[in-house]
Amino acid sequence: MAESKRDYYEVLGVSKDADDAALKKAYRKLAKKYHPDANPGNEEAAEKFKEASEAYSVLSDPEKRRQYDQFGPDAFSQGGAGAGGFGGFDFNGADMGDIFGDIFGDIFGGGRRSSRNANAPMKGANVHSSVRISFEEAIHGCEKEIKVNLKETCSKCGGTGAKPGTKPETCPKCGGRGKIVYTQQSLFGTVQNVQSCPECGGTGKVIREKCPDCYGSGYVSRLKTIKVKIPAGIDNGMKLRDQGNGDPGINGGPRGDLLVEVIVAPHPIFRRQDTTIFSTVPISFATAALGGTIKIRTVDGEEEYEVKAGTPTDTKIRLKGKGVPSLRNRNVRGDQYITLVVQVPQSLNAKQKEALKAFDDAMHGIEPEEKKKKGFFGK
Ligand SMILES: [Zn+2]
Ligand SMILES: [Zn+2]
Repeated sequence: MAESKRDYYEVLGVSKDADDAALKKAYRKLAKKYHPDANPGNEEAAEKFKEASEAYSVLSDPEKRRQYDQFGPDAFSQGGAGAGGFGGFDFNGADMGDIFGDIFGDIFGGGRRSSRNANAPMKGANVHSSVRISFEEAIHGCEKEIKVNLKETCSKCGGTGAKPGTKPETCPKCGGRGKIVYTQQSLFGTVQNVQSCPECGGTGKVIREKCPDCYGSGYVSRLKTIKVKIPAGIDNGMKLRDQGNGDPGINGGPRGDLLVEVIVAPHPIFRRQDTTIFSTVPISFATAALGGTIKIRTVDGEEEYEVKAGTPTDTKIRLKGKGVPSLRNRNVRGDQYITLVVQVPQSLNAKQKEALKAFDDAMHGIEPEEKKKKGFFGK
């Protein structure tokens, strides 16, 4: 495996703004050239095929493409962010099936490769869970504990599902193969149709006396507490992958993964887009006109800011580095954009009204009756 991944756009040989049709066309060309069926035993071709398939699977999915454009290929490799193998982003291999169906449907005339052997080891199913965190926790990163029901090998039967003292028997219907071949006559000649054995559900084994603890399944569910390390900069809806903490594999295959969706609570003041934070800060008319120091709330606490005299409402200012840390490098942070909104007083007492009237008169060149009223702002 190469140390650093090639750029996915480069792999497919397309520009950064390539549309779906261009991506598909580029991938189809590469897939046809490097497909293992066309290059038996050629490892370099196999690697190129894998690389192109990975690039296409990411770029053809708008959400993944957005993440890729923002975070780069590290966002899709295991352990790219966060420690302990936790924190890789969801690059779900299962999606590839759809792509193959889609792309190879018309290359190879619809022929999907032969159906899977029922007795072959298969990876267990992924377990899905979610965790709720606050806006600030998403910015700074945090550690949470979640409770998940995980399947463990039943200790009573050792995972066979059979009552202790008995053994699963070879399925008499399929002879232990787990599948049954039906032969049909059709216009095109004899067609063999392979189906999963209904008697044993494709396992090739039947259990006559079930284990009382697991009712024949071979595993028991236990509520487990799992620590989830959430990297700084995570965004709402992103998924963290904990490899090997999913359901047990079938026929000795590896366990599936635990996928934890992160749900970030909205914030009353801050809004976020990628690594940028937006907020609105009210300022008084006097501060807007005369200038002055205001306090601006950031995710790191309050910051003082010098408002220039004559600042109009809706003025946008930027606080550099007060945004969200990049998932790739938490020392690289986005900015905070603040919209200054000049407030119009809603209720004024008599004295305030008089002062404002005097101000308005002064603006229109009307002399005040007495000289002592020399502008209500300056004191
Ligand atoms: Zn059992
Ligand atoms: Zn069977």
